[in-house]
Amino acid sequence: MAYRTVNPYTNEVVKEYPNATSDEIEAALTAGHHLFKQWEKETPESRADQLHEIAALFRQNEDELAKTMVVDMGKLYREAKGEVELCAMIADYFAEHGAALLAPTAIKTRATGKAQLQKHPLGILMMVEPWNFPMYQIMRVFAPNFMVGNPMILKHASNTPGSAVAFENIVKKSSAPNPSLQNLFLSYDQVADIIGDSRVQGVALTGSERGGRSVAKAAGENLKKNTMELGGTDAFVVLDDADIDQVADIAWRARLYNAGQVCTSSKRFIVSANLYDAFLEKLKANFSKVKPGDPMDSQTTLAPMNSKRAKEKLQSQVDEAIQAGAKVYYGNEKIDLPGQFFEPTILTNIDKQNPAYAEEMFGPVAQVYKVNSDQEAIDLANDSDLGLGGIVFSGDPKRGTQVASQIETGMVFVNNFMVSLPELPFGGVKNSGYGREMSSLGLNAFVNEQLIVTA
Ligand code: NDP
Repeated sequence: MAYRTVNPYTNEVVKEYPNATSDEIEAALTAGHHLFKQWEKETPESRADQLHEIAALFRQNEDELAKTMVVDMGKLYREAKGEVELCAMIADYFAEHGAALLAPTAIKTRATGKAQLQKHPLGILMMVEPWNFPMYQIMRVFAPNFMVGNPMILKHASNTPGSAVAFENIVKKSSAPNPSLQNLFLSYDQVADIIGDSRVQGVALTGSERGGRSVAKAAGENLKKNTMELGGTDAFVVLDDADIDQVADIAWRARLYNAGQVCTSSKRFIVSANLYDAFLEKLKANFSKVKPGDPMDSQTTLAPMNSKRAKEKLQSQVDEAIQAGAKVYYGNEKIDLPGQFFEPTILTNIDKQNPAYAEEMFGPVAQVYKVNSDQEAIDLANDSDLGLGGIVFSGDPKRGTQVASQIETGMVFVNNFMVSLPELPFGGVKNSGYGREMSSLGLNAFVNEQLIVTA
């Protein structure tokens, strides 16, 4: 069976799930369309209390939901609890602000009469989500579209089915009408068929470039609106006047959070020559302090990677990088534990010909580059096919902001850790995808902005 939970700390197969049948898919589409027709007649206000209730249920069930994620993909229990709280925060935010953000707006016009823009739901939304934040990724799409009135079908990653079921159960437990969200264990072909169905009017994917290309192709062929949140090779730029202690404190966390498996993890550290040696030493000191172990144990600071396959892929990327001339400044030793652990690793001497230069390394491996000017830092940061996020450090916030605005990505933070919050738009440019999730931009991704002119 394609969908199964394998605990990456113990390697135990916890549970397997059968794929959806065509009858189940048809039933989901029929029920979803029925709800869409009902929601079309209702206002977003009428759904706000239900979404607040879902937020409350997330908080009430924090321990169980967090443990489900730990078993599914190995993240640290305390990080999983943070993810549950973030889900609740996102739900509360859209419950509180969604209706106002969806209210009709007047347009000044030369046409005869009064023009207004009304916002209506589009229809069923097909969402395809990854394993790295197995509940937050769903909530980013679910909360705004619940307010808009688009019922959703979820295809979650095949290694985090437990999280998909747990999320769906929370929605079912609330007084939200069924089926606001339907989780189905779908094959790629079934996803493409659903996208082709006329009752489905939008597609949202978070995942790899490869997955994004095929799902976007199916959406394009069927003329379905879509958003793509894909990978990143985010730069962490340290300018020559940065506070090295602040930088050092943030750098290791920006790389190792969630075992380095975050689309917006800092992956390329681009450091001014005067701070390069000190930066490497401090990064190594912080990397060497982390403690791998049971993700449920509060003393553990390094989680296993999500799967054997992911660990093997990262190892082969590191091996290839070394073969092509990269130097291991720290790490790349085997961790003597049965789980899928990867030792935090620092690579230097990566030149443009090295395959690692252009690749996203989705795990605890830092690439560190030395530069001699702000312009060199900007050029290196931009020399990537991906453009998701980034961080810039400078003792002068104005200079930091000027550099940030020249970095070709969807999001840049200056002098701070990158965070995702419901009021902040999330998304990238170039091969990191298009469209935004969260904030008013995410809320408006799948609405029919209908013009009404009344003479
Ligand atoms: P994948 O693209 O392999 O998987 C993501 C989801 O897409 C899974 O549900 C997967 O299903 C599904 N999928 C993949 N191909 C298809 C297809 N042809 N048709 C239908 N569904 C498909 O990504 P990874 O597992 O490699 O996830 C990590 C990637 O996601 C990284 O590149 C990371 O940077 C990116 N990401 C982007 C984020 C953003 O917001 N921009 C946030 C987090 C991660 P299955 O599991 O069954 O293969």
